[in-house]
Amino acid sequence: MNILVINCGSSSLKYQLINSDTEAVLAKGLCERIGIEGSQITYQPAGGEKEITVSPMPTHTQAIQLVLDALTNEKTGVIKSLDEVGAVGHRVVHGGEKFTTSTLLTDEAMKAIEECNDLAPLHNPANLIGIRACQELMPNTPMAAVFDTAFHQTMPQEAYLYGLPYEYYEKYKVRRYGFHGTSHSFVSKKAAEMAGKPYEDLKIIVCHLGNGASLSAVDHGKSVDTSMGLTPLEGLIMGTRSGDIDPAIMEYIAKKENLDIAGVMNVLNKKSGVLGISGVSSDFRDIENAANEGNERAATALRTFNYRVIKYIGAYAAAMNGVDIIAFTAGLGENDKNMRKAVCDHLSYLGVKIDEEANNVRGVDRIISTPDSAVQVMIVPTNEELAIARETLALVK
Ligand code: ADP
Repeated sequence: MNILVINCGSSSLKYQLINSDTEAVLAKGLCERIGIEGSQITYQPAGGEKEITVSPMPTHTQAIQLVLDALTNEKTGVIKSLDEVGAVGHRVVHGGEKFTTSTLLTDEAMKAIEECNDLAPLHNPANLIGIRACQELMPNTPMAAVFDTAFHQTMPQEAYLYGLPYEYYEKYKVRRYGFHGTSHSFVSKKAAEMAGKPYEDLKIIVCHLGNGASLSAVDHGKSVDTSMGLTPLEGLIMGTRSGDIDPAIMEYIAKKENLDIAGVMNVLNKKSGVLGISGVSSDFRDIENAANEGNERAATALRTFNYRVIKYIGAYAAAMNGVDIIAFTAGLGENDKNMRKAVCDHLSYLGVKIDEEANNVRGVDRIISTPDSAVQVMIVPTNEELAIARETLALVK
C-alpha cells in the first residue's frame, strides 16, 4: 500500500509518499509560504530531479491539491490516480494525555485533538488544518494521526509532575509531556535490533540532537523520562532555545530589558541556545567553524551544549539504574563526530569506550563503541516519516 505522510505547519507542509511493502520513498517534497505571497512547491520523485514550482497557495487545501497533482502528474508523477494512495498519516504535535498511541482520524479523535490546542497553540491548529484539507480532497481515504507526545505517555508520575501546585496539573494539565516521541520510539527500537537483543530487555538512552534536541530514557521498551516538558523549550540547550533555566531569570530579564512575557518567551525560544551563547549561528557547523578559527564564545557554546547532554545522560542512567545502549540521532547526533566523542569521553565512569575509527562516519547505522565497552554506543539515523507510515499502516490494516 502507498501511504502519504503529511507534516503540516502553519505556513509550510512536508510530504512523502511511501510504499509500505518496500518502505521505499516514492516521492517527497515541501510546500512553503502557504497563505503568504510567493508560495512554492518542491517535488522530487525517487531517482528524479527536484522540481520547484511557484504557485499560489492561499490555503492549505490548495497546497495539498498541488501535492496530489504533482504525485499524479502524467510526466513526473509516481502514481496514476489517487486510488493508489491507501492511507494518509498525519504528524500531530500534541496529543496531551488523551492519546497514548496513534489513532485513526474519526470525528471523535478530531475533537480530542482540538481539545489539546491550548497545549501547543502554534502547532496543533496547523496540524488540524492540514488534516481537514486532506479529508476534503480525499474523503474516502483512511487517515491516521501520529503524535509527538504519545510515546512518552508511559512516563511515571514522578517523572512527569513538576514541583508546582497539584491543582495546576488537575485543572490545566501542566506536566511534562515530551516531544520527538516518534523519533525516540523509532530509534530505540532500531538500536535494540542493532544490538541483537529484545527491546523489552534493554535500558536505552536516545539522544535526539538536532536544531531542537531532547533525550529520552527508554526502560524495557517504555519511555520513562524525557528532557522536553510541557513544551519543547525545556531540557537541553538547543539551536535557539534555552532549555533548562532558573525560572526566576524570566522576571529578572523582563525588568532589566523592559520586556513583557511574550518578549521574554521570544528570547528563550528564538534568541537563546547555542545561537545566544555563541553570537554566531544556531547551526552547529557554523559554530564549529568559528571555534576552529579561534572564536572563544563559539567554543564555549559547544562545550556548554555538550555538558548539558553529559548531565542528562548521567541523570537518565541514574533514573533507570543503569544503561545498556546510548543512541545518537538527528542532524547533529548523526553527523557530528566531534560532539559524540566529546560527550562519550566523559562517560568513562559508565564504562563507555568509543572506537574513534567507527565514530568517524556520518548518517549511517553504526555501533561506535569498542567491543569491550560496558555500554553500546550507536549512531541510529532517525526516520520520522517512515515511523509515521508504519504506524498508519498498522492502524488501517
Ligand atoms: P530539526 O529537525 O530540529 O530542524 P535536524 O535534526 O535537521 O534539526 O538538525 C539540524 C542541525 O544539525 C543543524 O542545525 C546543524 O547544526 C546540525 N548538523 C547537520 N549536519 C552537521 C554536521 N555535519 N556537523 C555538525 N552539525 C551538523
